[in-house]
Amino acid sequence: MSNRKTAFVSGAGGFIGSHLVKHLKHEGYWVRGADLKYPEFSATAADDFHIGDLRDQTFCRQMLDRHFDEVYQLAADMGGAGYIFTGDHDADVMHNSASINLNLVELCRMQKVGRMFYSSSACMYPAYNQQDPDNPKCSEDSAYPAEPDSEYGWEKLFSERLYLSYHRNHGLEVRIARYHNIFGPEGTWAGGREKAPAAICRKVAEAPDHGEIEIWGDGKQTRSFLYIDECIHGTRKLMASGFTGPVNIGSEEMVTIDQLVQMVAVIAGKHLTIKHISGPTGVRGRNSDNKLIRERLAWAPSLRLQDGLEKTYQWIDQQVRSRNEAVKEA
Ligand code: NAD
Repeated sequence: MSNRKTAFVSGAGGFIGSHLVKHLKHEGYWVRGADLKYPEFSATAADDFHIGDLRDQTFCRQMLDRHFDEVYQLAADMGGAGYIFTGDHDADVMHNSASINLNLVELCRMQKVGRMFYSSSACMYPAYNQQDPDNPKCSEDSAYPAEPDSEYGWEKLFSERLYLSYHRNHGLEVRIARYHNIFGPEGTWAGGREKAPAAICRKVAEAPDHGEIEIWGDGKQTRSFLYIDECIHGTRKLMASGFTGPVNIGSEEMVTIDQLVQMVAVIAGKHLTIKHISGPTGVRGRNSDNKLIRERLAWAPSLRLQDGLEKTYQWIDQQVRSRNEAVKEA
C-alpha cells in the first residue's frame, strides 16, 4: 500500500459511493469504505469495508485512524421525493446528515487529509428560482438569499458552509459538488427511497403493453438527469483540480417527467397511458447550469439522456424479472 494513493469513502454502500469505490480501485487506489450497509447489488470493491454508523464519533475515529490522501463524503440520510418531500423524515434527515458531516470534517482536519470531497445537491437552490418549468435558474451564484424547498436542501447548504469554514479557518482542502439527479444501474429502484428515473423504469418494466402507469404530479415538471459514469468522472475531475467549488455536476438536457416516461416506454417497446395522481413532486423546474464547470474544469457532461436510460432500463427490467421469478418460486 506504501506507494499507492489512499482514499476513504463514506457512504460506500450506497449508489454513488459503490460506483466511486470501483472507479478508484480501477485507478489503483487503496480504498477504505464505510456505511450502515454493504452495497445492495454487487460486492464492494473496497480493500477494507466497515459496517458502522457515521453519526457515532467513536466509529468515525476508527475509520479515520490514519492519514488519507483523499476522503469522499457521500453518506447522507436521503431518498427521492417520496422520502424527502413528505415532511415525515425531516428531523432524521437534518440530524443524521449534519451529525455525519460534523464528525467527519473535524476528523479530516485532525488527520490532515490531503483533500476532502463533499456531495451537496441541487436541492439547496432557492425554490423561488424554480417555479417556471421552462426557465429554472440554478447557477451557482443564485444560491442566496436561500430558500431550499426541503430540509434535505437546508442541511446541504449548512454543510457546504461547514466545509467552506474549515477551508477558510483551518486550510482543509475541500471540493464541493452540487449533484443534479444522478441515475444508473445499481441504484435504489424500489422500497420508497428510489428517485424518478428508477421509479419510472420500474413502473414501465412492471406494466403490460398497452397498460397504464401512475405518475406523481401533472407530468409537466422539468428536471435533468445525469448518468452515474459522468457523475464519477466529474467528481474525479473536481478532486484533481484546484477549484474548491461549489460547482454543479449535472446534465443540461432538461425534460418534463412525461417526456421521461415516454422515452422509457419507447426503450421498453411498450405503449403506455400515463395517469397523473397527486404526490410529492418538489419544485416545478430544475436544470443544471454548466457555465461554471466548463470555465473551471474545461469539461461538462455530454452523454445523451437516452443513452443512460437505455442502460438503466435494461438493468431495472432484469431486477424486476428476477424479483418476479423469486416470488413465483416462493
Ligand atoms: P445513497 O442513499 O445510495 O447513499 C448514501 C449512503 O449513506 C447509503 O448507503 C446509506 O446507508 C449511507 N448512510 C446514511 N446514513 C449513514 C450513517 N449514519 N452511517 C453510515 N452510512 C450512512 O445515495 P446516493 O445517491 O449514493 O448519494 C450519495 C450522496 O450524493 C449523498 O450525500 C446525496 O445526498 C448526494 N446526492 C445524490 C444525488 C442523487 O441523485 N443520487 C443528488 C444530489 C446529491
